[in-house]
Amino acid sequence: MSTPKSDRVSASKSATEARGETFYPGPSRTQLGAYPPKERWDDWVELDSRAWPQRLERHYLLVPTTCFNCESACGLLAYVDRETLEVRKFEGNPEHPGSRGRNCAKGPATLNQVKDPDRVLYPLKRAGKRGENRWQRVSWDEALDDIAARIRKAIAEKRNNEVMYHVGRPGEDGYTERVLAAWDVDGHNSHTNICSSSGRAGYQWWMGYDRPSPDHANAELILLISAHLESGHYFNPHAQRVMEGKAKGAKLVVFDVRLSNTATHADHWLAPWPGSEPAILLAIANHLIQEDLYDREFVRRFWNWQEFMEQERPKEKASFEAFEKQLKKLYAEYSFAFAERESGIAASVVHEVAKLVAAAGPRLSTHNWRSAAAGNLGGWQVTRTLFLLNALVGAVGVPGGVFPNAWNKFVPKPIHTPPHPHQWNELSWPQEYPLAMNEMSFLLPHFLKDGRGRLEVYFSRVYNPVWTNPDGISWIEAITDESKVGLHVALTPTWSESAYFADYVLPVGLGSERHDLHSYETHDAQWIGFRQPVLKEAHARLGRKVKDTREVNPGEVWEENELWIDLSWRIDPEGAMGIRKHFESKSEPGGKLGVDEYYGFIFSSSVPGLPEKATAEGLTPLEYMRRYGAFEVARNVGAQHAARVPRAELDDVRVTPHGRVYTRAEKPASANVVPVPSPDPDAEGRRPVGIDVDGEVVRGFPTPSGRLEFYSATLKAWGWPEYALPTYIRSHVHPQSLEEGEVPLIPTFRLPVQIHTRSANAKWLDEIAHTNPLWIHPSHAATLGLATGDLVRVETRIGHFVVKAWVTEGIRPGVVACSHHMGRWKLEGAGQRQMMATVSLRHEGTRWWLRREHGVEPFASADPDTSRIWWTDAGVHQNLTFPVQPDPVSGMHCWHQAVRVKRAEPQDRYGDVSVDTAKAREAYAEWLKLARPAARHSPDGTRRPYWLLRPLKPGRETYKLPGATARS
Ligand code: SF4
Repeated sequence: MSTPKSDRVSASKSATEARGETFYPGPSRTQLGAYPPKERWDDWVELDSRAWPQRLERHYLLVPTTCFNCESACGLLAYVDRETLEVRKFEGNPEHPGSRGRNCAKGPATLNQVKDPDRVLYPLKRAGKRGENRWQRVSWDEALDDIAARIRKAIAEKRNNEVMYHVGRPGEDGYTERVLAAWDVDGHNSHTNICSSSGRAGYQWWMGYDRPSPDHANAELILLISAHLESGHYFNPHAQRVMEGKAKGAKLVVFDVRLSNTATHADHWLAPWPGSEPAILLAIANHLIQEDLYDREFVRRFWNWQEFMEQERPKEKASFEAFEKQLKKLYAEYSFAFAERESGIAASVVHEVAKLVAAAGPRLSTHNWRSAAAGNLGGWQVTRTLFLLNALVGAVGVPGGVFPNAWNKFVPKPIHTPPHPHQWNELSWPQEYPLAMNEMSFLLPHFLKDGRGRLEVYFSRVYNPVWTNPDGISWIEAITDESKVGLHVALTPTWSESAYFADYVLPVGLGSERHDLHSYETHDAQWIGFRQPVLKEAHARLGRKVKDTREVNPGEVWEENELWIDLSWRIDPEGAMGIRKHFESKSEPGGKLGVDEYYGFIFSSSVPGLPEKATAEGLTPLEYMRRYGAFEVARNVGAQHAARVPRAELDDVRVTPHGRVYTRAEKPASANVVPVPSPDPDAEGRRPVGIDVDGEVVRGFPTPSGRLEFYSATLKAWGWPEYALPTYIRSHVHPQSLEEGEVPLIPTFRLPVQIHTRSANAKWLDEIAHTNPLWIHPSHAATLGLATGDLVRVETRIGHFVVKAWVTEGIRPGVVACSHHMGRWKLEGAGQRQMMATVSLRHEGTRWWLRREHGVEPFASADPDTSRIWWTDAGVHQNLTFPVQPDPVSGMHCWHQAVRVKRAEPQDRYGDVSVDTAKAREAYAEWLKLARPAARHSPDGTRRPYWLLRPLKPGRETYKLPGATARS
């Protein structure tokens, strides 16, 4: 059916004005008149801008999917040409409740990635030694048979822990974890301990949930310790809500050592000494406490103050009034003057911000994710002291405050749920770090060198450990050693520095070439987003069925859902190992599970409201999700901690002296199986169900006490009594820890248009951002005689890198900063050419040198733009020169570096990197000494508190520490 001529060309007129509406009638409810109305997504007509002045009409199928360029999972609409079935552009999906039709630059740039002339299109096997960068094309069958045989043998020989899957940003909710569980391997390894572990840990210790969901749009004060407008967590969805809040009158306070885009929008920009953020936050908390400006009722009802009093002040009466007196004493030392001494921020400014916090009351939205939490030793106290403010003013689970992520996230039940693995992998979860938020992934090369284990099959999946992790040269040493890593399989849509050191490079799909499900805490609602191979859906709308995504994806690019099902069948072809059954069809018993059945099952049976909504449009739930790409499950979820527990859930209850309520009643079947921590049952097997608050049983929080844990009995019991309360830990880059001539280097900040190694194959983004100079204040630069563009040598503990100076007032004096999104490199031979410099890599013993042989150059390809490349720079790879610095509690790599900044030496060239891996080993050994191992500190003979979150949680029996006995 053709579109009436009068309706063509200008969607903005036709969609909304014709109906007299002022907003797009989707879940976005915002002014999006420019979006094509969904009724016309089967034949949307636009003039071809390239054909101008000819008025050439193009007819499009508009197919939704989800962006894969960061963790925000914004909705995209692919414009698929009806005639050629070519994707011609990506724009925002106005039906997506999180992103509401908006994207950052990286969303539309998905098109560049799809068309990148250097992308990996076929399975490749190395043709020379590992690391030589010589490749031959192989079939998927050949590659998967080889990989499957190795995994099958390892499992058959009970070497399950030799199979490891190392993921960057998952971009999905639990699919691959279930694959690993089906294989019975504890092989999940993530990048989280170089990313957000410390940010998460501070939240986890408070509420049992590891992420915040701030309601920026309804706040009176937005306090950010991160650069949310361009690079925070969920930054496009959050950025638009920060601006919405500001438009409604909210004040914005930003803590950032450098002038980020977010800081430029702030009412107060505070640039403290790196790591001193908790000192400021504690001074604000102290102001609230001493001036009685906190919400007494909230604190009395929901904090575990009673547990604190009984355990820490046993001689005092455990009354709330007595606790308040203690609270005043505990925090009295954190004066504004103290904050000034630690941070360099004037006491008067801190006082000013404290008054804003007090005035906002419960409408205080705060957020920290990476930034200071990721940079510093003890960085997890940044989020813990930040959330202390919310917990004091009652800004938890209320409009304008902060919600736990799990309340604003929806995770449905899958078609198969394999049991918990029966293994514990000490290469990822070593005994030294019993409280680590996530896998100690960045220590893997050192553990392999220690001889703690080996890997038969190591998958790096959309992950680039050589480049992204600190101490990348130690990674190169470990993964090129075949006695340590039997087979390295790089699952990647594009070339990466790690892929050069693989045995197989297997091309997996980009955001428009794969299926995934997600749900993230963008605001007080629950939604589910569906990523899909857009050409599969385009074919379906034209009446053609696609069985395997390789039929429609470029080359032989495969999506992972189908890949994992296929590989699992090859591992267990007869079903004798108990693996295959988790990948079988239910509708055709004994047959292979397909993705349509997999997602059809989920959308039909475990997403409340979706079947009804789909029926109303004459669609099946799967058809609805393929057509619109997202569904809002709930809105205004509200204060779950204060929700009454229904009587049906209260059976033979037991209430502890602190008001924790246990029940014998079964957990009701619920569609929403948000993976929340599971505090232990009581001694008689009752499950925790809530807390007693003034005689009423309410849900509370999934902490051991059921309350917000101001006081952590867990931290005390596991060897960290000095950190049982939110407090201040001096960073490893605190002035007292620096040696003469050393300054802190801030390497944690993102560039708005690049994401780690996932966006460098996008020409539009590369043209905008392709370098990472060293930010240095004019006063600091003057002492070194530096001007912008001068070459600088930055020396770390294990080596140095050579970079250009950028002299700017946008950074705190005495601190330098360099973005980690640059410095991509390739060896001579295969590789990506738009944003990778070609380097030589050589070593003598443990001394390594990386030298840029030539920068980015124009080249001929099917895309004429590649011959117009005008930039040569690709930045400098600083992470190679950073030693591993694991926080002994959270396990997070503490990114900030103590460095010496000098003028470059005569032999130095831009982009040079030099590293001594013997020094890297020394640094590893020193930081390891800070750990307090479970063998000495476990109170109950287990490896880790069971209630703490753990991805791919193994069976409870694996928690028992070999040979250990309980201390108490
Ligand atoms: S890269 Fe941009 S558009 Fe894509 S998910 Fe992230 S914020 Fe959204």
